[in-house]
Amino acid sequence: MTETTEHISKEVNEEIRRFALQNAILHNGKANPKAVLGKILGKHKELRSNVKVLLEKCSIICSEVNKLSEDEQRNELKEKSPELLEKKKNKKDLPELPNAEIGKVITRIPPEPSKYAHIGHALSFLINYLYAKKYEGKCVFRFEDTNPEKSKQEFVDAMREDVLSYLDIKPDMIKFVSDDMNKFYELAEKLIKEGYAYVCSCSREKIHDLRSKGEACECRSKSVDENLKEWKDMLNRKFKEGERTLRLKGNMKSKNYVMRDPIIFRISYKPHYRHGEKYCVYPLYDFENAVEEELCGVTHILRSAEFGSMRIELQNYIKELLGFRKQTVIQYGRFNIVGATTQGREIREMIEKGEVIGWDDPKLVTLKALRRRGIQKETYYKLARIIGLSPNPTNIDWNIIASINRKIVDKKARRLFFIKEPVKIKIIGAPKQNIKIRFHPDNEKLGFRNFKTSDEFFIEKRDLEMLEEGKLYRLMDCLNFRKENNKLIFESIEYERAKGKLNKIIHWLPCEEVEKATVFTPEHELIKGIVEKNVEKIKLNEVVQFERFGFVKLDNIKSDENNEKTYNFWFTHK
Ligand SMILES: [Zn+2]
Repeated sequence: MTETTEHISKEVNEEIRRFALQNAILHNGKANPKAVLGKILGKHKELRSNVKVLLEKCSIICSEVNKLSEDEQRNELKEKSPELLEKKKNKKDLPELPNAEIGKVITRIPPEPSKYAHIGHALSFLINYLYAKKYEGKCVFRFEDTNPEKSKQEFVDAMREDVLSYLDIKPDMIKFVSDDMNKFYELAEKLIKEGYAYVCSCSREKIHDLRSKGEACECRSKSVDENLKEWKDMLNRKFKEGERTLRLKGNMKSKNYVMRDPIIFRISYKPHYRHGEKYCVYPLYDFENAVEEELCGVTHILRSAEFGSMRIELQNYIKELLGFRKQTVIQYGRFNIVGATTQGREIREMIEKGEVIGWDDPKLVTLKALRRRGIQKETYYKLARIIGLSPNPTNIDWNIIASINRKIVDKKARRLFFIKEPVKIKIIGAPKQNIKIRFHPDNEKLGFRNFKTSDEFFIEKRDLEMLEEGKLYRLMDCLNFRKENNKLIFESIEYERAKGKLNKIIHWLPCEEVEKATVFTPEHELIKGIVEKNVEKIKLNEVVQFERFGFVKLDNIKSDENNEKTYNFWFTHK
């Protein structure tokens, strides 16, 4: 047992010193004891029972280290642990959270299964997820499915596929809020018994009207017994939808409209996708949310500022009445998705009108669409780290998504020749060759492409049209030729010899060994062409680069009645 700082072992002491030096070097000479503690606890889980003592020691060592000049810090670390010196500060790391302790942070991802997630959802989910990871805490994935009119199994399945699987989010717990209905009823009854909630029989219009005026209805003064009886009757299906609601006693004079006796439960006879007709009274969002944060043990809520402080006041009031903890709420600037609609209703209309082919249309920024286009999961992580908790609104447009994704796929995408509008050419005197080139110029591990060539090739029509008399050209990685008297004459094989004199490098395909291919663009254009036979080695859903064309993702392979294959790609980006 380590009870005082004297009991910390020599090894750990030295380790603290090394991390303190490293931390100081990364932060203008000033080490932060908590950051150092985090490093130590990350490495030595067994020391977690002694956090207080350890932090004290980290503070002592950090203050010693902070007295050194930056050069001294660097020299000492260089001597003790040069590998730590090489680690550069990761500028994309998320900023620290207030009230956050290693191992104790719990965040939540609360999708309502009523729509398909888009990139805005993905980023806010990821921010919560990454913070749980950063603090070695937990992340709860919570389906907020207490609106039977909106929640559907279809969307639960889509969330699992688009969010959990595609984005590779591995929550510590997955739960359905509708499984907590009995708990909600129990808490409602508690509020009624304590005089904080009442059953209201007014019409929606009347409730709205009185709330705007800041006046209470007569239902507010009903006795607890009356309220309890009517609440039970609500649960026992004695009323029609809309005939009764349960309202919270807030403050009818509050400047904050949502505090004016909001409805917290309503009747709905719509069968629930998960529970059928088991329940007919459902909690509304703010009540459900306030309760769930407690049930999930959430410590930090990271959400977009558009949520607004009005609802926070209401949810905090509910938490107070129920004796629940409050969470640290951090609001970041909203994401504006530029150039694509994210509104489910609008997208549904576009689908009906035939303007888009479905939720995965390449014009859209739903996760379904982005996945089908070949946007890599790493792109979202990168974007989430860049945006972090910036208080300012962030505009996210296609160019940002594409530029991040391009850097990621460029390193791993195999290269292929794709030729639209192919025309056959003959290069007089061209030797037969077996050409072997890498699938990726810098990465041999991605394998090789093989070509058997003769003197006939396919090139793009526009390339043929621009060839000028007397000038030298190159078929990429293959040979050089010259145009003379309207004929194409073989010149040499070596690239080096012709370098500097070449007018253009052209991509090509040998006349045999080609496959049919199409590329579907976000503009709904279907570009037809041919692709090299090496396409056989490409896996479904793999992103490749068609040279001088752009990045594309292999979507499907179709065979016609003659068993002739067509490789169908979706355009990712330039
Ligand atoms: Zn009323």
